[in-house]
Amino acid sequence: MSNNVPKLFGSLVFNDKVMKERLPKETYRAIQHSIKSGTPLSGETANIVAGAMKDWAIEKGATHYTHWFQPMTGITAEKHDSFLTPVSDGEVIMNFSGKELIKGEPDASSFPSGGIRATFEARGYTAWDPSSYAFIKNGALCIPTAFMSYTGEVLDKKTPLLRSMNVLGKQAARVLKLFGKNVTVDTTVGPEQEYFLIDRDTYERRKDLVITGRTLLGARPPKGQELEDHYFGNIKPRVMAFMQDLDRELWKFGIYAKTRHNEVAPAQHELAPIFCSVNISTDHNQLTMEIMKKVAEEHGLCCLLHEKPFAGVNGSGKHNNWSMSTSEGENLLNPGKSPESNFQFLLFLTAVIEAVDRHQDLLRLSVASAGNDHRLGANEAPPAILSIYLGDELTSILDSIAEGKPYSKRGGVKFKTGVDSIPLFTQDTTDRNRTSPFAFTGNKFEFRMLGSAVNISCPNVMINTAVAEALCAFADRLEKSKNFEEDVVKLIKESYREHKRIVFNGNNYTKEWEDEAEKRGLLNLKSTPDALCRYDREENIALFEKFKIYTAAEIRAREEILLENYSKVLNIEALTMIDMVGKQILPAVFAYSSDLAEGIVHKQACNVSARAESDLLKKITNLSDAAYDALNRLSDTVVEAKGVLDFKAAAFFYRDNVLPAMQELRTHCDALEMLVESDYWPIPTYCDLLFY
Ligand code: ADP
Ligand code: MG
Repeated sequence: MSNNVPKLFGSLVFNDKVMKERLPKETYRAIQHSIKSGTPLSGETANIVAGAMKDWAIEKGATHYTHWFQPMTGITAEKHDSFLTPVSDGEVIMNFSGKELIKGEPDASSFPSGGIRATFEARGYTAWDPSSYAFIKNGALCIPTAFMSYTGEVLDKKTPLLRSMNVLGKQAARVLKLFGKNVTVDTTVGPEQEYFLIDRDTYERRKDLVITGRTLLGARPPKGQELEDHYFGNIKPRVMAFMQDLDRELWKFGIYAKTRHNEVAPAQHELAPIFCSVNISTDHNQLTMEIMKKVAEEHGLCCLLHEKPFAGVNGSGKHNNWSMSTSEGENLLNPGKSPESNFQFLLFLTAVIEAVDRHQDLLRLSVASAGNDHRLGANEAPPAILSIYLGDELTSILDSIAEGKPYSKRGGVKFKTGVDSIPLFTQDTTDRNRTSPFAFTGNKFEFRMLGSAVNISCPNVMINTAVAEALCAFADRLEKSKNFEEDVVKLIKESYREHKRIVFNGNNYTKEWEDEAEKRGLLNLKSTPDALCRYDREENIALFEKFKIYTAAEIRAREEILLENYSKVLNIEALTMIDMVGKQILPAVFAYSSDLAEGIVHKQACNVSARAESDLLKKITNLSDAAYDALNRLSDTVVEAKGVLDFKAAAFFYRDNVLPAMQELRTHCDALEMLVESDYWPIPTYCDLLFY
């Protein structure tokens, strides 16, 4: 295998370098213009690009092409067509036209559309997004596309993201113009991806993992993460081999895989790429998740991306590092050496604070899912309450502006290592606060509520749109200003005063914070149905319509799709559990009980005590009776849930009835697992899964 990373990097991508090499100069210029300005290519140019793409793809071994898109399922979709075109005499040529490149027509009726589809034709369109490069995967040329219905309603995750980048870029550029800068602005994101790796063989012997991605049963292993010996720990050879292959695969796709390490929980790991434009980092993150699964399989492993595969063990998240950057390469969230006098930075910082405070619910609901509900607020991830960590220095700068008091600088504190050979270094402006859901980390914000499985487009749509709104209001005001500097300070002062309740630098995992947040009037949307039901509030519809991100109908459709998805996930989990307990767990418990009983009879026939066995048998019988009853109750509850027709009511019914019934059944089964001889236990245990 080649270790020439620069050569490997992007070798499966029709990127800028390839375009430069293979396209006529005017075509290359036309496509660059189209990417930068977002205007469509002419039919003629599209034909030339398509031809070049096809030739390149065929040289790389591809036979097919596909429009690669991100429907509301959250994962990517593709339908392969071969380049094959019949000509006379049974001969074929390999053909790919500009029309096929630009537009596709998959059947929209098989993807979630939340009622939009029902009222129109089933047809859907995919449209090429030239700002994200085409690539080759599984012998097919994949063309990143947006997906919409026949009548133009968006049915995917990419279109709103592109719109939101555009909107934020425009508003940020307006503000920068007032600072004398004529630039365009892009959103940058680097998503850190957590995941579990387990042995494929044990995985396949657990129906719950195969069907739902998480364990629905399983007693705590004797050792968890309490020794804190896994985080950044030595990577075992089998996992290292996987990571090396994974990096190589990702590099081929032009993905900037940078960091790899063990995470907190046993069998948990993380991969972080170098940040880039959010449209690309979203596509790359979707690809990364897919490739992780594929490479794991090749190594006899299984990659679990579920937010909470194991109860009692930390789940997996995804940290969405977010910032804005100009065409001159200036990071707008870089505080510089003297943030106290960097009013451009302070203004953008204030806009983010205002945006997060105003739209707590949108940020919260953008990460809501049945899986993520197990993490948020469980002392391993931030609570369901949005707040911002700014750190002491920035907080006191903004506080002093708000109070009209002069700010006294702490000074660049030199960090003393106490070891002569290690040079002194200056401390960062902010310390780390790992409990904050939205933390300023030096020159970017890190949104930490995301679950590991989520498509990052939705959270970024929310951040972009909310910040665009704040910047739009700032620009409206400042464009009229006669005394710019004074008015900037005034604006920061007013906005920060109004929204500073969202700033919290303390420990987000405590009960005290929950109480304090309530006093401050912050939202605490604990579950997915609570959060999603706020999607179509009037303010939210107004926001999205103002910036043309979604129409009211599109928002309602999204709410419906996501709430229905929540109910469907819980329904599948409950049915899987019923199957496993009824067909695997209880029969195993009965077999063991009956062998125990037989042993007791034999022992008693020999006139020796069978006290221990009898006692154990009694305990097991009590538990298996309880499990049996709980199983029946869960079955009844699932039947009842099916009768709840309204999608909102159904989601709450699943949350309030099905989930607790599953929990009750689990408690009995996990207690049984501790008592039943391991040879009888029909499925791999947490020990088998986590310590391989
Ligand atoms: P950690 O948070 O684990 O300490 P880093 O600070 O190195 O790690 O960065 C985490 C992620 O943030 C990486 O993906 C990195 O590329 C990304 N990142 C760094 N700067 C920016 C930025 N300006 N905009 C968006 N993401 C960024
Ligand atoms: Mg991080």
